[in-house]
Amino acid sequence: MRFQDIPGLHVVKKQLSNAVQNQHIAHAQLFQGPTGGAQTAMALAFVSYLFCTQREGDDACGTCPSCQKVHKGIHPDIVYLFPSITTKKVKEAESDAFLPEWRKFMLESPFRTIADWLTYLGAEGNRQGNIPVEETRKLIQKISLKPFEAPFKIVFIWNAETLNLSSGNALLKTLEEPPSSTLFILICSDPQKLLTTIISRTQRINVGTVDEVDLAPFLTEKTGIELEKAQQLAITCEGNISWALDKAVNENMSATTWFAEWMRAVYSKNLIKISLLADQFDAFSKEDQKSVLEHTLHIFRQCLYQISGTSQLIKSLEKERGFIENFSKTLTGEAIGKMSEKVSEVHYHLERNARAKMLHLDLSLQLIRIFHAKN
Ligand SMILES: [Zn+2]
Repeated sequence: MRFQDIPGLHVVKKQLSNAVQNQHIAHAQLFQGPTGGAQTAMALAFVSYLFCTQREGDDACGTCPSCQKVHKGIHPDIVYLFPSITTKKVKEAESDAFLPEWRKFMLESPFRTIADWLTYLGAEGNRQGNIPVEETRKLIQKISLKPFEAPFKIVFIWNAETLNLSSGNALLKTLEEPPSSTLFILICSDPQKLLTTIISRTQRINVGTVDEVDLAPFLTEKTGIELEKAQQLAITCEGNISWALDKAVNENMSATTWFAEWMRAVYSKNLIKISLLADQFDAFSKEDQKSVLEHTLHIFRQCLYQISGTSQLIKSLEKERGFIENFSKTLTGEAIGKMSEKVSEVHYHLERNARAKMLHLDLSLQLIRIFHAKN
């Protein structure tokens, strides 16, 4: 994770890279931000930068052995503490027992929440994960050795608000008399749940909320959804990037599948299927209907790029690439122009509450006409 992998938040990034460059690094830092925010990613980017052996200006290189180890969660000088649960196999909730899962979970996305983590672990009902006191006690042992290869040892505490009272107090002792060359990095989204004595011993890094203007293109890049839809999600997610990413992936998946089926029906002039799809379209919410049409326009645009030899402009999910390539072969630029026009017209009428089923049916028939005009 590098600073450039996180959308926006330029002031915090600069503050953190400056701290490393000037060697003004507080021995205990609390990265806080909204649930599902960029605080974990920011802390990981900070550690990568601190440990990177080939820094590139204000960011880590992302490729040196050190960056790679931080990325994979296997750096020998980082100790991870995170909430866990007891299972049939693991009688005592402990981070070490869940480390392989945690590494995988973090690699998939560093924006996820504690609720995402518990679901990932298969915790049932409203069981809560916590960092038990034994964990913090074992810490002392783990950090008593000198760093193996980095300039510091790092204690990375994810969701520090899940430290219970006794583990919080045990940690406090270590924070009061920190072993030399040890940095404590606490991540949290709800600092009110932390002991005030812990808060007072840490430097607070207020990571804040990623600006909508920065988040929307990030969502589009990561998931391939339309920028307009991404903008809506960026506004409604209230800083919860995890939620926004999930929503974007799901919406795009369903829109992609549905669209592909629809185009196959148009291509094969399958009128029975087209009538069925019109029924389905009618049953969608207004928002979903619009999102299908927006996705259609998006794919048509990508096909135009493909046809006009500017495929480097194509923005789509990897799995859509094949579809775009094949679909483009069956179309001319002129046909795509006409089809896009028809789809835009329907989008316009939908806004004005025209009957979705008839609109969609009529649209499909017009697309068939344009599509097969050359034959
Ligand atoms: Zn590096």
